[in-house]
Amino acid sequence: MFEKMLRDNHLKITPQRLAILKEIQKFGHISIDEIYENIKESNPSMSLATVYKNLTFMQEAKIIDEVKLPNQKQRYELVKNPHIHLVCEQCGSIIDMELESSMQQLKELCADASQFKIKETSIAMIGICPKCQA
Ligand SMILES: [Zn+2]
Ligand SMILES: [Zn+2]
Repeated sequence: MFEKMLRDNHLKITPQRLAILKEIQKFGHISIDEIYENIKESNPSMSLATVYKNLTFMQEAKIIDEVKLPNQKQRYELVKNPHIHLVCEQCGSIIDMELESSMQQLKELCADASQFKIKETSIAMIGICPKCQA
């Protein structure tokens, strides 16, 4: 699946890129430091700078997305349908909620009311997840 993704986007398939994509998929939303920690054992030749460079390439190719969350380290995720992030302030878990039509509506409301040309939408809800409430 990742081989095809890279090939379709004219990116060279390298073991490093595959390892990074696997980590992102496994964790859903992951920071560059976490990726590096998780793969350095099986990829000893890979430096933090290499991880960063590969992330940038894959972001430009729109295979992965930067996740912008308030008061949080930058994370990456695989490109998905537009979604809202629910962030637990206690355990740090991040849940995706696909509410595409509501997001579209909100975007149009904001654009109409402000005359802003909106380029991207990033919505996060901060709170306490069901597990941490228990
Ligand atoms: Zn939690
Ligand atoms: Zn997400």
